[in-house]
Amino acid sequence: MNASFPMPVTHAAAPSEKALIPFVSVANMMRLVHRIGLEAMLAEIAEVIEGNFRRWESFDKTARIPAHSPEGVIELMPTSDGEVYGFKYVNGHPRNMRAGLQTVTAFGLLADMHTGYPVLLSEMTLLTALRTAAMSALAARHLAPQGAKVMALIGNGAQSEFQAVAFKAICGIDTVRLWDIDPRATAKCAANLAGHGLRVVACATAEEAILGAQIITTATADKRLATILTDNMVGAGVHINAVGGDSPGKTELARDILLRSDIFVEFPPQTRIEGEIQQLDPEHPVTELWEVIAGRKPGRRDDRAITLFDSVGFAVEDFSALTYVREKAVATGLYDLLDMIADPDDPRDLFGMLMRAGA
Ligand code: NAD
Repeated sequence: MNASFPMPVTHAAAPSEKALIPFVSVANMMRLVHRIGLEAMLAEIAEVIEGNFRRWESFDKTARIPAHSPEGVIELMPTSDGEVYGFKYVNGHPRNMRAGLQTVTAFGLLADMHTGYPVLLSEMTLLTALRTAAMSALAARHLAPQGAKVMALIGNGAQSEFQAVAFKAICGIDTVRLWDIDPRATAKCAANLAGHGLRVVACATAEEAILGAQIITTATADKRLATILTDNMVGAGVHINAVGGDSPGKTELARDILLRSDIFVEFPPQTRIEGEIQQLDPEHPVTELWEVIAGRKPGRRDDRAITLFDSVGFAVEDFSALTYVREKAVATGLYDLLDMIADPDDPRDLFGMLMRAGA
């Protein structure tokens, strides 16, 4: 277990207390973000992810387990480092928005590998937006051209402001150029970013948004092989942070862009199925981002290279975000205790515990 990682607060003396599980609600997650500060929290989550990517080989890794429907996907994302186990439940339903529901919602759990007892249950809808943005910015810090200041942000939905603020905090960008097919999304994003220290430019087309941008983030939601960026839109020397293509049959980039790019991925067995590279030959060379972060492989080759972070979201990022939140929640007291594990005084007397409760 991480040295800075407190042991479960669940292991108190009284049997009724020892199985109470810390739970971070949406309200407490929001309090935590405001207590720590949004930019600081994004930077700290990126730091934890970076540390865990450096010790990539100590994690059990598996492509996430999807359940597809015509409307979207529900996924389970498990991993473990031998001490702590974590999983996230997450959905992706692009049509939800029309019914006033979010495209992506999530919650997650950590457990002690030695007892199997959960040690944290947390909301992860906000936390997914935070960790996705932190991951994107961390990748860009290793791959984007030196001194990049301008980012195009295509798709101005729920993830977008988190992306903008993370790239400011972690990569030092000062300008975002926004585009969305729905002008209300762009207006919302621009209004939300006011006061966050960024120059925000609302654009009339995707082509206009990428003008002068050294970084292009695509975070659109559409359950199809979409072409948010065409080949002629992407010039030499840019970094593409492709966030929205994350499921079979759901991509954002023209295939020709991929053929001109140096492609960096999280976990190839998952990205080959879900990422932009599902459009390519299964043998097409890609670099695993952890190897760049660990200093084993080069990132950006030169000023003219097009680097592409083919982001789909991987379990180690959620594990990192959950361990970070657990430490902060315990330190601040911003959690509730949930009675979700039956824990009789005599471990073999589960039935007796049930009967005594009715007496
Ligand atoms: P959202 O539905 O809130 O926002 C998506 C936005 O994209 C909407 O405003 C929509 O109008 C816009 N859009 C759709 N088609 C477009 C087009 N052709 N051009 C421009 N804009 C377009 O979704 P969200 O929660 O912001 O998520 C965005 C995407 O990121 C989703 O596809 C989601 O699955 C994905 N995602 C990926 C990760 C990851 O780790 N890679 C994590 C979270 C979410």
